[in-house]
Amino acid sequence: MTVPVDPLTALAGQEHAVRRLDAMAANPPQSIVIEGGDADTRVALSLYWAMLLNCRSAQPPCRSCASCRQIADQVFNDLLFFDGREGLIKVQSIRDTRGVWGQPPNGDGYRVTIFAEAQMFMTESANALLKSLEEPRPGNVFVLTAPQRERLLETLVSRSWVVTLAWPDQRDNAPDVAEWVDSLVRFWRTGQGWFERTSPKGAVDKDLAMQVVLGVQRELREAMIGSNSTSASSQLAQAYGPQGLRRIGLVLDQAQDALNTQVPVNPSLVLDWVATRMI
Ligand SMILES: [Zn+2]
Repeated sequence: MTVPVDPLTALAGQEHAVRRLDAMAANPPQSIVIEGGDADTRVALSLYWAMLLNCRSAQPPCRSCASCRQIADQVFNDLLFFDGREGLIKVQSIRDTRGVWGQPPNGDGYRVTIFAEAQMFMTESANALLKSLEEPRPGNVFVLTAPQRERLLETLVSRSWVVTLAWPDQRDNAPDVAEWVDSLVRFWRTGQGWFERTSPKGAVDKDLAMQVVLGVQRELREAMIGSNSTSASSQLAQAYGPQGLRRIGLVLDQAQDALNTQVPVNPSLVLDWVATRMI
C-alpha cells in the first residue's frame, strides 16, 4: 500500500499561478494550458483547478471533503485524467471519450479533463480533441499541461488560457534578466533609468517580457518571505510593506495575463505599464 501524498504540496512557492486560477474559477474558460514548473507541479495545479471547480466550500478548496479527496486520488467521477507521463496519448482513447464530453457532468460542479504532459499527444489525437473543443459542452473544461506551450499544437493553445508556473530549476534570474529586473526595481524607487531600456525598437520581445515578469515575481517571493538574497529583493522589502508587495503581485499577474492572451500586444508597452503602475 502506498502512503497517500497530498499532490498540492508541489504548489508551494507558486502563489501567482494559484491566484490566477482562483480568479478564473467564477467563470472558467473551456480550456487552459499550464506551462512552466516541473511535471509534478503542473499536475498539482491541474488537480487544484479540479478542486476549485468542484469543492462545495468554494475558495480556497477545503482539500478534505469527499470531492477534494477523490480528486487528489484521481478517482473523482467528474475527473478524466490522461497521463502523457506514461507514454503517448492515443487517438483511440480520445475518440472513446468523446461521448462523455457530450454529456453534462455527473455532479454539481464541472467535469475536468486533464491531459498531463499533452506534448505526448500524437497529432492525430490532438486533432480529435480539437473537435471536442470546437463544440463546447456546458460543464466540461479541459486542462493541457506541457513544459512550454510551443510543444503543443498551436490550434489547441490558441483556444486556451495559458497559465505559466515559475520554473523551479532557475532559483536565480539569468544575468540579462536580472539586469532588467534590477532596472525596474530601481525605477520604482527613483523614477529613472527605465524607458531608455524599453524604447529602442525591438528591444523587448514577448519572451523577454515574460522572463522579466517571472523574474520580478521571483524577487517578490524572496522579499515576501524575508529572504533578501539579492539586491532587488532586499530593495523591494525595504521600499514596500506587505500591502505594497501584494499590489506588485497583482500588477505582475495582470501583465502575465496580457502577455498570455492571443491578442497581439506590444511587449515593451506591457513592461512600461508594469513600471508606471508602481510609481
Ligand atoms: Zn473540498
